[in-house]
Amino acid sequence: MKTLEEIDLKSKRVLVRCDFNVPVKDGKILDNTRILAHIPTINYILEKGASRVILMSHLGRPKGVVNLDFSLKVVCEELRRHLKRNVRFFNDCTGENVREGISRLEEGAVALLENLRFHPEEKKNDTGFAREIASLGDVFIQDAFAVSHRAHASTVGIAGILPSAAGFLIMKEVKYLSELLKEPGHPFVAVLGGAKISTKISVITSLLGKVDTLLVGGAMSYTFLKARGEEIGNSMFEEGFLENAKGILADSKNLVLPVDHVISKSAKEAVEIRVSGLIPEGFCGVDIGSKTISNYAGIIKNAKTIFWNGPMGIFEVADFSKGTREIAKIIAETTRNGAVSVAGGGDSVSAIKKAGVANDFSHISTGGGASLEFVEGRILPGIQALK
Ligand code: ADP
Ligand code: MG
Repeated sequence: MKTLEEIDLKSKRVLVRCDFNVPVKDGKILDNTRILAHIPTINYILEKGASRVILMSHLGRPKGVVNLDFSLKVVCEELRRHLKRNVRFFNDCTGENVREGISRLEEGAVALLENLRFHPEEKKNDTGFAREIASLGDVFIQDAFAVSHRAHASTVGIAGILPSAAGFLIMKEVKYLSELLKEPGHPFVAVLGGAKISTKISVITSLLGKVDTLLVGGAMSYTFLKARGEEIGNSMFEEGFLENAKGILADSKNLVLPVDHVISKSAKEAVEIRVSGLIPEGFCGVDIGSKTISNYAGIIKNAKTIFWNGPMGIFEVADFSKGTREIAKIIAETTRNGAVSVAGGGDSVSAIKKAGVANDFSHISTGGGASLEFVEGRILPGIQALK
């Protein structure tokens, strides 16, 4: 993969694909992590004497039409604050006005284009659209790891037209995630949780071949427990994956399931809440129980390498958040004692932040789906395009 340190940026118009897909509510950015993650790349390009730095991104799911609820304008103000310079905002990402405006900018100016996904051509990787955007720059820097598993105009299309290289964020993601695959320190422990087995089935099977132990939590444990013939009451599970889960249980010796659960009559709030090994009719499993926490803690504490994706319970509800918080703290502590830890997944990362231990992890991936696909060993088209 070519990197931005290996490409000539001096006096060039540099197009940069960022991931500014931040959570926005009532016109306010709730979490600016994704914006901050690109600042080193942007500053480096400026230091190297680029004539223009043209930033582009998507935000939310506008579904191919202009919808100002998803405007990147709110990001522009945040960028100005962190770059400590003016950032010129453009109301579109293509067209004569944008081209004109960019050509008239002063030397060394930074511009932000409007949401790429206001155009249906972006997700279709339309060649004409990619060419139009590419015409705004001389070189292309890809820094949006979170979309690199998608073949879009701004990931694959433009990279096929302009001289292209990876930014610092992509370099960091690839470094930590490939270490997991190449020569992980053993014991290598993966912790997988979250809502659905279906979205994570291929990462489960591929990790089982690599890790010493795979600890399962969250709703996905109930599909496994049901496949093993256990009662799971009203817990969330996936009927369509029972057979698959049976197959995985029969084939693997290193998959560990919860032995107790926090159970509640409602998944929305604590109703007759208690910790139990069994889940009776009328109750659902909403978190891992205390015995499970200490089992998992014992295994995690011995690990040299840890990969975590997916919360251990419905952590959004305070009464159901203990398992996730404890696992986050144990991974943080094990990391402080010398292990390498990598976490990915939107909800997992927000749970880690809530637990206040984000700085203790070796690496927190900015890409949920992309990090899972990478760990599965799949080739990501947006990364491949930089080779
Ligand atoms: P990530 O975003 O980290 O990849 P997922 O999106 O796969 O994680 O899963 C997160 C969701 O899983 C959370 O909204 C959480 O409430 C839900 N979840 C976890 N455990 C359970 C459970 N026992 N029952 C229902 N939902 C659960
Ligand atoms: Mg999620």
